[in-house]
Amino acid sequence: MTTPRTYSASCHCGAIRFTFTCEEITSGRRCNCSICIRKGTVMSSNYFSPSDVEVEGQEHLALYQFGDKNVNHFFCHTCGISPFSTVASVPPDYQGPARPGDYRVNLGCVHDLDVLSLDIQVINGKAL
Ligand SMILES: [Zn+2]
Repeated sequence: MTTPRTYSASCHCGAIRFTFTCEEITSGRRCNCSICIRKGTVMSSNYFSPSDVEVEGQEHLALYQFGDKNVNHFFCHTCGISPFSTVASVPPDYQGPARPGDYRVNLGCVHDLDVLSLDIQVINGKAL
């Protein structure tokens, strides 16, 4: 366990700014599902509970959902960057760590984080 720290982050144009508190970030996730493979982002390995995330500029967020609509895919309607997604709901048989409302963050939006030097794992989201 490391000391939790607070990271600041923003979309490209700065309309959406957010901070979140967590253990030091040493890893990230990429995913091969139909949306992640198109975005190409490195996402946070962990989900963050809403109490650990503060968002400014919510009014600039646009929402995209598809399929079973389990995930809120947010993006900035000015610059198009997806700063984070949140869990809308989980299937009844879901055993994982995510809870409705939890955030998964686009690590590329995080200030002063060398994303490409992280330990990046690939999730087989296509199979989910
Ligand atoms: Zn923006």
